[in-house]
Amino acid sequence: MKKIKFLGTSTELGVGKILCLGKNYAAHAKEMLSDVPTTPIVFMKPSTAIITGSDKIIIPKISKEVHHEVELVVVVGKEAKNISAKNAYDYIAGYAIGLDMTLRDVQSDAKKKGNPWTVAKGFDTSAPISEVIPKDQIKNPHALTITCKVNGALCQKSSTGKMIFTIDKIIEYISSIFTLEEGDLIFTGTPEGVGQVVTGDLIEAEIEGYIKISHQVIAA
Ligand code: MG
Repeated sequence: MKKIKFLGTSTELGVGKILCLGKNYAAHAKEMLSDVPTTPIVFMKPSTAIITGSDKIIIPKISKEVHHEVELVVVVGKEAKNISAKNAYDYIAGYAIGLDMTLRDVQSDAKKKGNPWTVAKGFDTSAPISEVIPKDQIKNPHALTITCKVNGALCQKSSTGKMIFTIDKIIEYISSIFTLEEGDLIFTGTPEGVGQVVTGDLIEAEIEGYIKISHQVIAA
C-alpha cells in the first residue's frame, strides 16, 4: 500500500482512493477549449499512481505527450458520507501539493471516442505528492499560491481562491456519491498553464511558503 507522511513527523497514512476534479479553474477550462462545468467533473486514479520523495515520473510507452497539472490536494481524515458544506472541513486531515500527470494524447483520443480517462490519468507515477501539511497549519486553503516549474521556468502560478467549486462544496458533492475514508485524497483541479514535459525534465511543484516537491521525468 502507498503511504504518505505528515510533514515533520514519522506519522504515515495509507492512501485510499484518489478522486480528482476536472476543469475546476475557469482559465484552465478556457485553455482546454471547454466550457466551465456547472457540476463538478470527477475522475479517479488508483492509489498505485502515487509517488513521493525522489521517485521519478515514468512516461509509459503508449504516450508521446505527457502534461503537468499542479493541484492542491485535500487529505481526508475520517469517514465521510453525505456531509454538508458547512461541516466539510471537520473531515480534512491536511493538505498537500500534487501533480495530476496526464497523457494528453491518450486523453484526447478517449474524449473523441467517448472512452474513459483511466489510462490517461491513472498510470503508475501519475500522482506525485508531497508530505501532508496538517490542517491547523493552513488557516485558509483558498488563499494559497500554487506553482509549477519545469527546468526552473515558471509554467503555472495561481491562487487556490480561483477554484470554481470550493473545497467545502467538493466534499459535499463527492460525499453524496462516494463514502470518503481516512487516507483518501482529493485533487482539486489545475489552474492554467499546463504543458508538455519530456524525458530529462525536472518538474517542481509548490505551495508557496509551505511545501515543495521535485520529480524528474524519464521514459519507460
Ligand atoms: Mg487535473
